[in-house]
Amino acid sequence: MVNKKQIIKSLFKDRECVIATMHKKEEAIAPIIEKELGIKVFVPNDFDSDKFGTFTGDIERMGDQYEAARHKGKGAMKLYKKTLSISSEGTFGPHHEVFFVPVNKEIVMLIDSEKDIEFTGVSITTETNFSHATVKSFEEAYEFALKSGFPEHGIVIKVEKSLIRKPIIIKGITKKEELKREFEFAIKKSRKKEIYIETDMRALYNPTRMKNIEAATKDLVKNLFNLCPKCNWPGFGVIDRKKGLPCRGCGFPTNHILLDIYSCKKCGHSEEKKYPNNKESVDPGECSYCNP
Ligand SMILES: [Zn+2]
Ligand SMILES: [Zn+2]
Repeated sequence: MVNKKQIIKSLFKDRECVIATMHKKEEAIAPIIEKELGIKVFVPNDFDSDKFGTFTGDIERMGDQYEAARHKGKGAMKLYKKTLSISSEGTFGPHHEVFFVPVNKEIVMLIDSEKDIEFTGVSITTETNFSHATVKSFEEAYEFALKSGFPEHGIVIKVEKSLIRKPIIIKGITKKEELKREFEFAIKKSRKKEIYIETDMRALYNPTRMKNIEAATKDLVKNLFNLCPKCNWPGFGVIDRKKGLPCRGCGFPTNHILLDIYSCKKCGHSEEKKYPNNKESVDPGECSYCNP
């Protein structure tokens, strides 16, 4: 019986990992990484992750979520001369199936440039306060804030370009008096006497998001601990899925997932695992022959 923890820890023994973050994400990430992987964590106090894109739209993000995380991680490794990095990246947007339900997807990525490997953890949840509104009075603004988990969760006030000569963005508002002061400042300058208010999604202003980053970190650890059955390399993971789970009524294959294909990044060994959702057949109600 192999000791998984020993195998993982020997990969990272005596090495320091830079956490490419500046919004206190290390509070969610570091304790798990240190405990589970035995990695020494280095948190730079001058890493400007905003250079790689922000949520409030003032700086555009580079590439997709994975590219963005990779970009941050590699940037930080170069900057602080480390061979290990952890970076994270979140997105917020409407659910792809349920309208008006916002979804937060967090990824946490570990890159090892010495061994040329990369692992990712993912957590997707509808547990998010992601929201925005246009308001005309302080009462409306305060009501929006309270609904969004204020003051534990921060608020952002904006006046857009179309309503003002020089756009206003005030982030990280966490006090009622502050909200009132900034609201009055902004509304005075707005041509239409309305302002834009939104939830601050930066991790340190958003405990709900912080929890999801923690979940993605745990997923990263879980993925790492999946060792290749042949060579014990970490990250033995799903690289493809095959549809064709049979219908219980007619027996024909359906569009539901039949099996996952796992593959090792080091030796190339691959395995198929059937019934990933612990279901061996599909209800005829969900079959396109039985229920067209
Ligand atoms: Zn059927
Ligand atoms: Zn292998």
